[in-house]
Amino acid sequence: MLDQAPLSSVAPPLAAASAPIAMFATYVHPEAADRVRAVLESTFLSEGKLVREFETQLSAQLGLRHPAALNSGTSALHLALEVAGVGPGDEVIMAPQTFIASALVVVQVGARPVFADIQYETGNLNPADIEHRITPRTKAIMVVHWGGYPCDLAEIQAIATRHNLVVVEDAAHALGATYQGQPIGSISDFTCFSFQAIKHLTTGDGGALCARDPHQAREVFRRRWFGIDRAHSPVSEIGEREYDLTDVGYKYHLNDYAAALGLANLEGFQARLAHRRAMVQQYRAGLGRVAGLQLFQPQPDRESAHWLFGFHVENRLAFIRALRAKGVTASVVHDGIDHNTLFGGKRPELVNQRQFDATQIHIPLHDHLSAEQAEYIIDVIHQGW
Ligand SMILES: *Cc1c(COP(=O)(O)O)cnc(C)c1O
Repeated sequence: MLDQAPLSSVAPPLAAASAPIAMFATYVHPEAADRVRAVLESTFLSEGKLVREFETQLSAQLGLRHPAALNSGTSALHLALEVAGVGPGDEVIMAPQTFIASALVVVQVGARPVFADIQYETGNLNPADIEHRITPRTKAIMVVHWGGYPCDLAEIQAIATRHNLVVVEDAAHALGATYQGQPIGSISDFTCFSFQAIKHLTTGDGGALCARDPHQAREVFRRRWFGIDRAHSPVSEIGEREYDLTDVGYKYHLNDYAAALGLANLEGFQARLAHRRAMVQQYRAGLGRVAGLQLFQPQPDRESAHWLFGFHVENRLAFIRALRAKGVTASVVHDGIDHNTLFGGKRPELVNQRQFDATQIHIPLHDHLSAEQAEYIIDVIHQGW
């Protein structure tokens, strides 16, 4: 399998003698340069047939429903809220365990993020902490699949259905993940992906928005390009495109040279995902019985996209220093974002989030990580901190 996924460039070093083993690596397929060069030489740089081909392949290879390729994951989140009709005065219930982009877009549309607690064991939104936060202003629930591990979507969708709410998935970490056998990107009202440089499929910057409803999907395609329906706005004899703008659109589309990079990087994506899965199995087997270390607890009905490998650790600063001294990077990935003044300041009552903030740690997981390096990292952790 893995020979389908040529891993370009040199493998990172094994031990402390040289640069440390990094948390992330940007994967660029060896054929990407040629494919991007062909676009540059064609001088057709804007949104065209390669964007359409990229969208077709995201559907065909990963089961995404109606993916619209956009210029970032943040654009996807913003456009999802716009098309969902979330606006001034509305409330969106969400987990703080995410990157600020998730809540920024809520503020951008004039709505308010309402933070609910997470599950300490996964970092994902706790379905049991949602319902008592619903008010007449609540419009949507936004979920984040932390590190690529899918949230409890069935429970969350049941709450949304009961209260007539929209579900928006921030699936920036979760391309290739599945939940109860269904691909992430085919389940909720809206699913948002990121193809930013350190995400596991990159177009440099980019994203995709999947709207399950075909009418809303058409609206996504129209509003990603100024709100103009290109297919139904012919250019007249005098050279002007004929349309009537009816609502606000954005300049959010992807372009063809980014799509060329995305298409190249889709080659071997499943094999690279399988490689990540194997690395995670190795980590879990090697770290399952270490004093002071508590692994996250996955359920068997879903498969993570394994963007991150995180767990909880005692004496975290000592842990980070001990690993650094032996050439291994270990890092916190995002404190709960509710602490930001813009979002209202830290919520002490979110007990699991505060505990997660205090103990979470992530170790290297990327396409270039080798089994030998994973073994070395396990060994270093066993030596203690
Ligand atoms: C990366 C990321 C985003 C933003 O994606 P961009 O493509 O950088 O705009 C949003 N949410 C989460 C959880 C992310 O990790």
